[in-house]
Amino acid sequence: MEGPAPAKNVAATCANEQIPLKFDYNMSQKDETLRIKRKPTRAIRIGPVQIGGGAPVVVQSMTNTDTRKVGATLAQLHRLAAAGCEVARLAVPDQKAARVLGEIKKESPLPLIADIHFNHRLALAALEQGADAIRINPGNLGGEKKTRQVLEACRQRGVPLRLGVNAGSLEADLLKRYGAPTAAALAASALRWVKKFEDWGFFDFKISLKSSDVLVTVAAYREVSRRTDYPLHLGVTEAGGLIAGTVKSALGIGMLLAQGIGDTIRVSLTRDPVEEVRAAYEILRSLHLRERGVELISCPTCGRCRLDLFSLAEEAERRLLAVTTPLKVAIMGCVVNGPGEAREADIGVAGGAGVGVLFKKGHKLRQVPEKELLRALLSEVAALTGETVDLPEVDQEKP
Ligand code: SF4
Repeated sequence: MEGPAPAKNVAATCANEQIPLKFDYNMSQKDETLRIKRKPTRAIRIGPVQIGGGAPVVVQSMTNTDTRKVGATLAQLHRLAAAGCEVARLAVPDQKAARVLGEIKKESPLPLIADIHFNHRLALAALEQGADAIRINPGNLGGEKKTRQVLEACRQRGVPLRLGVNAGSLEADLLKRYGAPTAAALAASALRWVKKFEDWGFFDFKISLKSSDVLVTVAAYREVSRRTDYPLHLGVTEAGGLIAGTVKSALGIGMLLAQGIGDTIRVSLTRDPVEEVRAAYEILRSLHLRERGVELISCPTCGRCRLDLFSLAEEAERRLLAVTTPLKVAIMGCVVNGPGEAREADIGVAGGAGVGVLFKKGHKLRQVPEKELLRALLSEVAALTGETVDLPEVDQEKP
């Protein structure tokens, strides 16, 4: 299982081979929802969370606090958990960070993956502190002997590993062989380590193949998915800021998920990691793979709009972030598409001149003055979900 042959260009092959999308038309559903058939994979467990083996696609993120600052790291872990994150990764750049891991774990609402580079002793220390999983890149860990020591320590504790191959740190012989960190080179590196892990009797791992190039990422994952059944952790590395990063991640992760590939995802953004979790759920919701919280549908507005829809939509989105019940809320500017979309949603608003018509489950409720619209909309969501919603004070409403 030593990687693809040097002459084979995985990216070109994948682009040309017309792999059929594995969609199922489920005609029994009201809107003929397309359901994605996921590729069967082995299961691993990170703390209580199963990844692969038919489990729902798991949402991950990574803290960006200094791990050694326990209070700040825990505060971010709690914010991530509140946003729906299910597994968190923490950088462990030195022994001090490894040592505080146990302290963080005691209070953490999420299972923790220790992110290790360059020094296998940090992985061993993180395991002693109770890390729920270890992420290593064998390409930078200092050789087979050290990698094997980490695997042995994982096995003794029943802790899984993430085998993370990165375009930025491919082995020298593969770079020479392929000439660049191509998809084929990434796949070959991962498959080489898979073979070694298996030869050493270690099977408790998932795989990631990271490149900042979307097409390289997609082609590499497809090749590894074709050749193994280990669970795959999807992500586009160093994706960028909010817009660039979300677009690149949605494309890369989305293309793979749409083909049934991928068991856990991390959207990588140069932002507050809570935004990564929100973006991850938007990707999963768009593909009908997971649902959580409010799906807000709002129109871009145009010359027909006669109320301040931007403020209404922004404020509603902010105040509805804490709602976890899956719910569709439509905020539409006028009567062209407004009533139609609003009726299809669980709760909807169709705007008029200084007023909005509220809809609930397809039925018109009442007309509400613009200044009372936000509160009326949020109150309906609170009533429908039974959850607490942050309502504006009456005197804070738009004059
Ligand atoms: Fe314009 Fe009305 Fe469509 Fe919004 S719903 S974009 S206001 S036509």
